Amino acid sequence: MQGKKTHQESLFIQFQLSDYVPADNFYRRLKSLLDLDFLYPTTLKYYGKEGQKSIDPVVFMKLMLVGYLENINSDRQIVVSSGMRMDILYFLGYDLGQELPWHSTLSRTRKLYGEETFLELFKQVLKLCINNGMINGKRQAVDSALIPANAAKQSMVERIVMEDASVFSRELNDNIEDEPVVPKKPKEGEGNKPDKQGDPDKKNKKVAPVNQTHYSPSDPDARLTTKPGKPMRLYYRAQMSVDTASHCITYIQAFKGNEADKTSLPIMLPQIAGNMAEHAIQVEEILADTGYSSGKAIRALTANGMKGYIPVPGTYKSSREDEGFTYDANYDRYVCIMGVHLTFKRIESAYDDPTVLKRIYESNISDCKNCPFKEICANKKGFKKLVDSADKQLYEYMQRRVESPKGKQMKALRSSTVEPVFGSLINYTNLNRINAKGLKQANKCMLMAAVAYNIKKLLKCKFKPLIAALTTAIIDLETLFNQLSRLGRAYKQSYNANLHLSF
Ligand code: SF4
Repeated sequence: MQGKKTHQESLFIQFQLSDYVPADNFYRRLKSLLDLDFLYPTTLKYYGKEGQKSIDPVVFMKLMLVGYLENINSDRQIVVSSGMRMDILYFLGYDLGQELPWHSTLSRTRKLYGEETFLELFKQVLKLCINNGMINGKRQAVDSALIPANAAKQSMVERIVMEDASVFSRELNDNIEDEPVVPKKPKEGEGNKPDKQGDPDKKNKKVAPVNQTHYSPSDPDARLTTKPGKPMRLYYRAQMSVDTASHCITYIQAFKGNEADKTSLPIMLPQIAGNMAEHAIQVEEILADTGYSSGKAIRALTANGMKGYIPVPGTYKSSREDEGFTYDANYDRYVCIMGVHLTFKRIESAYDDPTVLKRIYESNISDCKNCPFKEICANKKGFKKLVDSADKQLYEYMQRRVESPKGKQMKALRSSTVEPVFGSLINYTNLNRINAKGLKQANKCMLMAAVAYNIKKLLKCKFKPLIAALTTAIIDLETLFNQLSRLGRAYKQSYNANLHLSF
């Protein structure tokens, strides 16, 4: 007989969330693992002593976490989804039917709390990972990714500082009424010249936005940039270090989109070392790609007591033998195929970065005067100029390390470690776009995404074996208890029998 389910909602039910959320549920395990009570003293400074009560800082942070764990990038959606999930309600400490905080409270509180609150949470989770033996810490792989900002390239406007100054100066001139303005008599031939200001073609011509002349009024910290395979748009850059043993994130920070990796590394290294030093772990090796290579970056490695595996830039030339110039280390000079000396002349700084220094070697005009290769070798002034990096020795030292058998292993290890982690952050922990404005807010978003990633790793790696071990232990205990009961019963029976015989 065919059955048909009829439904009549019960008016009164006895219900307890904890009865319906399984013991091995992700959020139930997370609730018992994560102690966020440190937020109460940390965030106390953001509140006054009177007035309406704020959102509970722990509830706020848990709701933020839910957004990143569930890959939801809308505060409104976080609240809606949380209200429909028994396990999340249990994690938040709410009951069915209990009203959750209003969604706009989340964005207001996110702006209110400083970066240090989010950094503290990141460090707490990192500590849990270290205490659970997940992080070795000695070798870190670093990389960066461009994360789209919450602003459109089309919204960029020209910086108006200079325009303001010129308007002010024009107004000043207009207000000088005492001095009559005598129109200048145009010079001969000048009268027919078109007026630049009045030329409609010039006025209407749109200039392509660049960071030097344009900015986004809605997010002034976002920067226009691109890289192969990415469109030119406004970005932030996420710099991250990942432990090669466990793939846990040990450091993450937001930088402006156009900030080069090589300039960020000296800022990153002390923080990576600091995060590990808090747990008495010394970072020994840093693996990075060519983008991080610079003399300053290599020096920063040494200053922080680390060794690196960073390939030198593709444009760097360790030898000029293929161009026909041999280096003579005794006299610090080059010798060309004609035997002419190119002596060291001076040190120059790079035009785009004054901190990058270059060594200049030049031949004499008189030496090259009659050379048969002059047309293809010498410059227009009639001499040959060679430019070397002032950090040549550092680059050569790094090149030797990278080309060693271990260096080749480290190159493969770096790409297999840090790149998949960025993939996970972007696809599964809500880092495909910064849903806030400003560098500080972007930093908070990145820290939260890293916290969510590390929590997932922590629960996945540690507690599965623990639950399995606990389950086995419980089964063993049950078996032992049954055996003991059986033994007890047998002993009781034999005792009774002996007692009966003795009478
Ligand atoms: S042009 Fe000058 S530097 Fe070049 S090969 Fe001739 S002599 Fe040597």
